[in-house]
Amino acid sequence: MNYIVTIDGPSSSGKSTLAKLLAKKLSISHIDSGSIYRAVTLYALENKFLSNKKILLEKLVNSLSNSDISLKENRDGIFKMYVNNEDVEDKIRGSKVSKHVSEVAKYEEIREFVLRIQRDISKNKSIVMDGRDIGSFVFPNADVKFYIDASIKTRSERRYNQLKEKEQHLSIREVENDLLNRDNIDKTRKKSPLIIPKNSLIINNVNRTIDDVLNQMLEYTKSIINKKMP
Ligand code: C5P
Repeated sequence: MNYIVTIDGPSSSGKSTLAKLLAKKLSISHIDSGSIYRAVTLYALENKFLSNKKILLEKLVNSLSNSDISLKENRDGIFKMYVNNEDVEDKIRGSKVSKHVSEVAKYEEIREFVLRIQRDISKNKSIVMDGRDIGSFVFPNADVKFYIDASIKTRSERRYNQLKEKEQHLSIREVENDLLNRDNIDKTRKKSPLIIPKNSLIINNVNRTIDDVLNQMLEYTKSIINKKMP
């Protein structure tokens, strides 16, 4: 039997790291849904459908339908994001994409495009998928659901430490403002906003080690899956 584990939460709450490790422990696939929204945003920026103030939504959506935005599994079973056959994993993690991604992700047309990719990639396999609307909207009947949170201070420090080597001009204040801005857009948009999904286990991971949280998630997942799978 295949099963689905969803992990939702705000930016830099640690959910992608935990999702990756949990999937590895369970020997199933991990899909980072934020990377699809990031790839769409990169595509929009590079093809000039998006500038500081404006998005050419209709043109972007038309163009997306003629492009190849996909997750491809490498030999180690890890999914990487590709845009027209270019590996964009590095490019999509930078602050330029981060700054615009929530603005792009709020449109229904964009969410429908991403939803198709999410559903296709999850067919006939067990997965851990992380994002903002996975347990509430993408897979409301998922077997196991988590909601991961942390304080804005902890999240900003984590994100700043990830970015500081590559982007030395950034200050922690800018990173914090970007996170607060994204939280606000993600929580208040009309289409599938970030909420705590029904029946999810809420974990606040401030002052806890990754191993400690991971073990809790692993035990919880196994307890549910073992009951379902005789
Ligand atoms: O998780 P990550 O920070 O990479 O996600 C980038 C952005 O993509 C989020 O801030 C959010 O606007 C959007 N997103 C979303 N729904 C998801 C995953 C990500 O709206 N399921």
